[in-house]
Amino acid sequence: MLVVCFQTNAQVERWQQHIDYTIKAALDVNTNIVKGSEDIVYNNNSNDTLTKVYFHLYWNAFQPNAAMDIRSRELGKNSLTNRRGDVVKDWDARVTDRIEKLTPTEIGYQKVNSILIGGKVQKLVKHETILEVILTQAILPKSTVKMNIDFEAQVPKQIRRSGRDNAEGVRFSMSQWYPKMVEYDYQGWNTNPYIAREFYGVWGNYDVTLQLDQHYRVAATGVLQNPTAPANAQGIKTWNFKGNNIHDFVWAADDHYKHLAKEVRKGLTLNVYYKEKDAKSDSAWANVLWAAEKMLPFMEQKFGAYPYPQYSFIQGGDGGMEYAMATLLKGPGLGTVFHEWMHSWYQHILGTNESLFPWMDEGFTSYAEAEVSHAYNLTFAGNSPFINESEKGQIKIANEKAKSQLPVVQYGNYMGYLGLAKSGLEEPMSTHSDHYNTNYAYSSAAYSKGATFLGLFGYIIGDSMRNKVLLNYYNTWKFKHPNANDFIRVAEKTSGIQLAWFKEYWMNSTKTIDYGLNDIQATSTGAMISVQRIGKMPAPLDILVTYKDGTSELHYIPLDLMLGNKEAEGSINRIVHPECKWVQPTYTFETSKPLSTLKSIEIDPSYRLPDVNRSNNKLEIPN
Ligand SMILES: [Zn+2]
Repeated sequence: MLVVCFQTNAQVERWQQHIDYTIKAALDVNTNIVKGSEDIVYNNNSNDTLTKVYFHLYWNAFQPNAAMDIRSRELGKNSLTNRRGDVVKDWDARVTDRIEKLTPTEIGYQKVNSILIGGKVQKLVKHETILEVILTQAILPKSTVKMNIDFEAQVPKQIRRSGRDNAEGVRFSMSQWYPKMVEYDYQGWNTNPYIAREFYGVWGNYDVTLQLDQHYRVAATGVLQNPTAPANAQGIKTWNFKGNNIHDFVWAADDHYKHLAKEVRKGLTLNVYYKEKDAKSDSAWANVLWAAEKMLPFMEQKFGAYPYPQYSFIQGGDGGMEYAMATLLKGPGLGTVFHEWMHSWYQHILGTNESLFPWMDEGFTSYAEAEVSHAYNLTFAGNSPFINESEKGQIKIANEKAKSQLPVVQYGNYMGYLGLAKSGLEEPMSTHSDHYNTNYAYSSAAYSKGATFLGLFGYIIGDSMRNKVLLNYYNTWKFKHPNANDFIRVAEKTSGIQLAWFKEYWMNSTKTIDYGLNDIQATSTGAMISVQRIGKMPAPLDILVTYKDGTSELHYIPLDLMLGNKEAEGSINRIVHPECKWVQPTYTFETSKPLSTLKSIEIDPSYRLPDVNRSNNKLEIPN
């Protein structure tokens, strides 16, 4: 019996720290030096007395022999074979050994000159990208402290994410640019040295005032407060942005930025900022704004409401990288556009600890990217006024191709995971994102296996139940830093099905799924089909039996660990068998018609089970 109880409005108890930043910074566009101050109001909502606090100083990573540099060069010693069969080095092609070669004017740095609390100077201990602050007076539980920080930074030559003068010529990509407080949560201080991987932050309100040469246009997190402010007599313009309930602040500046904006509904404006180039580029960036507006209703219906007043697609950085209310993009490709925007849901609003659960951010975002891209291509792409006939033709071909590839929407993510599972390099998805042995294993686990988690989840509890779980998860855990168990608990409460086993196998192990058809025997009324579990990870089974008369039936074999079944999906008649014990190596069931009438038998006809060997999944019965 399935018990469904929706907990849409369930309140969960988990304290969060809170921070308000008032940042004032001036960038000298000639020397690439930023000088600034931060006035911080920090609420310690924990039950702990804090004798120290910590800050991230990310740009110290862009110096020869910094941890990011050493790690990249070490990864460059590993050669791997990629999916295309090419032998490639395992380092990030954007980083390689470039940091080692930076000159003193090209390196990045962040220096905190002083931190004052109540006028008292605090003791600072530098650990490259982490600053330890030994407090003169402890911060008591449930208390508030004010800090004043004075800092100076040099914008590095763009290597990874942040920096000046990127490959597209954008002058300043200002991410991770200010001393940023480390998050303290129920697991303690998250003091991860920066090596170019995932982030985690404290939610709060940002009031940021930037000063720079009046010829530059600034694109940023938050809402611009003074759009008409004139430059001063020295040619310096002041930009003030405010954003609430966010855990980071990015900005970018260029002297040849073009700006497109549209209020797509009351209280929400979408912006596009890109480097002036040619008419083709104008059209591609206009298409970003067009597609974003078109897809927002789908995204919200499927993944939850977007709560901020603004979102900006900003050309900058070196690929696609997500920030609060904004993304830095290398180019206008829509896959990346949808991916980075969907990070607003998983990275920014849910705010999972990405270092510990990168797959709950990158994986869920990659899953959503595939869903949004597919829906866009099917529904809107052909009507865009910003793409030409040949591009429309390409989309048509892609849509046709997608129909023949199962699972249609998540095909790429499944292939990424299956490649990993067979590579011999897989590590459990519970590995800390900074500590995988290879970049390959990290990215395939975080992105592909994480996305496959949700595809497989749809198979296990049913796609429509999985969609309900995603919405309940978002509404229950937004702005609360959920972990993997929090997700599973929402899923269990929503579906009435036991699911901890699924998390244990998929997250904490590298065990794989492989079921095969073993044997068929004639009985007096039907055929006895025997299924073998070859892989170590168990799963419930959908088995499609097709008869020569064209009829078919779906045999469902429940898994005992679940103590429940998904509801029937689709219109094919479903026969539910007694549950299979997870320890059982083989399982037999009987069809309703005799062996002579059978045409074919197929395990997992929907292709949502990431079975590492599909060659034993289907049997065609010869005449
Ligand atoms: Zn991502």
